[in-house]
Amino acid sequence: MTGSRKRCVYCCDSRSSDIDHFKPIKVDIRSTFQWKNFILICPECNRCKSSKFAYGADGTPLLVNPTSVDPWEHLVLDVDSGVMAPRFKDGEYDRNGEYTLEVIHPVNDEATVEGRRRSAERYIDAAHHAMEDGDTQKVRRAFVKAVAYDEFGLATWFAFREGGCTDPIRQARDAYPALWRRFCTLACRQSLNSL
Ligand SMILES: [Zn+2]
Repeated sequence: MTGSRKRCVYCCDSRSSDIDHFKPIKVDIRSTFQWKNFILICPECNRCKSSKFAYGADGTPLLVNPTSVDPWEHLVLDVDSGVMAPRFKDGEYDRNGEYTLEVIHPVNDEATVEGRRRSAERYIDAAHHAMEDGDTQKVRRAFVKAVAYDEFGLATWFAFREGGCTDPIRQARDAYPALWRRFCTLACRQSLNSL
């Protein structure tokens, strides 16, 4: 659920030492022993989450469950700052993204944001190297390293979301398709390992 580094499913910055009920048992006692209701979370995110659990107008939970939903459906990353924000679509901010960031505010704590920014920077640096040196072994290793040292699961943001549409990531993608396919494969593996 949290990958080899046992990171919290929300902030990705701390060890997931707590087993929490995604749907609090105060809200639904019947979900106490349901396996799919368990998430691995860090103590700080768990404290913030507590028993907060609101529903949207359609009756579904507002809190994003990263073990069953791709968080990028609801959130976006500002690569330059490392800050996560709710996705803006159809003229309004995504309510699930807004609620999740309101409740689990350690996601945008200063230290977490800085760690996320540095992780993003490794991908951007790798793309810069690609544009300077081409599709070389050194450049491929730079992408492998960016994924290997990425505690925050950002590879899919760059491989499959808006992160791939800004330079120099977009330039590297367009100039070196074979390199890009290898990177997308790594991003898929990172995503699967975090389940
Ligand atoms: Zn956490």
